[in-house]
Amino acid sequence: MSGQRSAVSRQPGSLSSQSRSVGLLGGGLAGLALAALLAHRGHAVTVYERDRAGGKLRRVTVGEQSFDTGPSLFTLPGVWRAFLARLGEADPLDLRPLPGGLGVHHTPFGAVPLPVPADHPLHAAWEAYCAPARGLASHVETLLTTPPRLIDPVFRRASAALLRATGGHLTAEGWVRARQLPPALAHAVRTHALNAGLAPVDAPALYALLPALIAGDVSRPARGMGALLDTLLGLGAARGVRVLEGAEVVRVDPQTATLTLKGGEVRRHDLLVSALDPARLAVLTGRPARSPVSRRTVSGVALYAALPEPAPLPATSVLPPADFGPFRAAMRAGALLPDTLALVHANGPRLAVLLTAPATARDLQPDHPWVRAQVARALRTLGVPGLLASARDVVALPPAHYAAGGHPGGAIYGAALPVWRGGPLHPQPYHPAPQLWQVGTGVHPGGGLPAILGGAMIVDRLIGEGSL
Ligand SMILES: Cc1cc2nc3c(=O)[nH]c(=O)nc-3n(C[C@H](O)[C@H](O)[C@H](O)COP(=O)(O)OP(=O)(O)OC[C@H]3O[C@@H](n4cnc5c(N)ncnc54)[C@H](O)[C@@H]3O)c2cc1C
Repeated sequence: MSGQRSAVSRQPGSLSSQSRSVGLLGGGLAGLALAALLAHRGHAVTVYERDRAGGKLRRVTVGEQSFDTGPSLFTLPGVWRAFLARLGEADPLDLRPLPGGLGVHHTPFGAVPLPVPADHPLHAAWEAYCAPARGLASHVETLLTTPPRLIDPVFRRASAALLRATGGHLTAEGWVRARQLPPALAHAVRTHALNAGLAPVDAPALYALLPALIAGDVSRPARGMGALLDTLLGLGAARGVRVLEGAEVVRVDPQTATLTLKGGEVRRHDLLVSALDPARLAVLTGRPARSPVSRRTVSGVALYAALPEPAPLPATSVLPPADFGPFRAAMRAGALLPDTLALVHANGPRLAVLLTAPATARDLQPDHPWVRAQVARALRTLGVPGLLASARDVVALPPAHYAAGGHPGGAIYGAALPVWRGGPLHPQPYHPAPQLWQVGTGVHPGGGLPAILGGAMIVDRLIGEGSL
């Protein structure tokens, strides 16, 4: 093991007579969040992490600039606050609104900033689009953090609000079409189906409402996203969580709650929780990993570039594909699309370019012709064609990187669920065996930060209740 973070203190009296030993596989954000919650209940939690804690969020140094990889936009902050409230903690993150919200969307029908400002010709259409989502954000936050049970009036109220807003439409595409939005706004809205890692015809209708729900409250911790990782590690350490880095689990026996580490050491716990992608867990338990390419969420190539001076760009720019039909076909076939979705984040002399790619574990580096062409297209559209060429250094995290510790193809949100099972209304496989639970981005649909933090809260509550 390359490193170990161990307990700094235990809350007095927090270990109850029902304290159990929990082995938690995977020290990504989901695993660390659940570890803190379970330790708060008095359980003795050990996190086994094959690499470094943080998973998709990690600090890398590029050309003497520090970058936090993975998530860059903090949304639906009510989920984070509910997580902290369960731990009885104040918010140390100092979330700062991100200038420009969700950014400027360069659609084939014109550029659309989301939220659309009052002086923009599409403002009235934006207001009309947002109307069904008024007051919905708190209901969605409730759904993300509450076990989906029809006997629970809280769940019933929140799901009724969501169903009213989605108006009986199953998919994001269906909802957008029915609203007859101006083409530029419709295209920008469709882009946010990609928050589920899916094309608009495959994403639940909720994703068509996401811009309305989140555009006005997009933030980032003042000290960068890495502050979220530090906070989760600190919350766990204060409750006695042990995080073992460089501890790869190579076998799991759910019947006996036993795991085997690389090197042969066997560890037995009362309960195991997997915060790994379910396809990866399947392999560890000796089951076949069924995940055809046509049923995967997207992967990506993230390029982090250190520039000699601040980039003359807004904080976030979004370059959608011209047509989501060919986009979907390419992702499902594992093909490289000539105009994939690109996100460009500029933060002083730090530039991040995120390209959506099929989840086929390819090692797409900056000098790959497709990567070069996509970056050139994005930067040309933004009027800064030579920006990356001026970089002091560039580091790329390709699908092969995401495949190393996540879904075997690098699918950022794991396997694609049928649309009726996506979104927060359907129970997910939280409890696949009596002594085995699951959380993480491949378990909680659209597994961005709100989904994985909320998923950790759901599983914590179910474990606390002792049943589903
Ligand atoms: C480029 C990019 C941009 C994103 N942008 C956003 C954003 O703006 N906003 C947002 O909310 N979300 C965003 N996300 C999603 C967000 O980053 C993820 O949802 C989240 O980080 C997933 O956390 P996780 O713990 O579920 O999974 P992971 O981070 O994948 O953690 C799984 C952990 O398990 C470990 N592991 C795997 N196998 C083993 C084993 N056998 N033994 C022990 N450990 C093992 C891995 O090393 C890893 O640390 C983005 C993701 C990416 C990749």
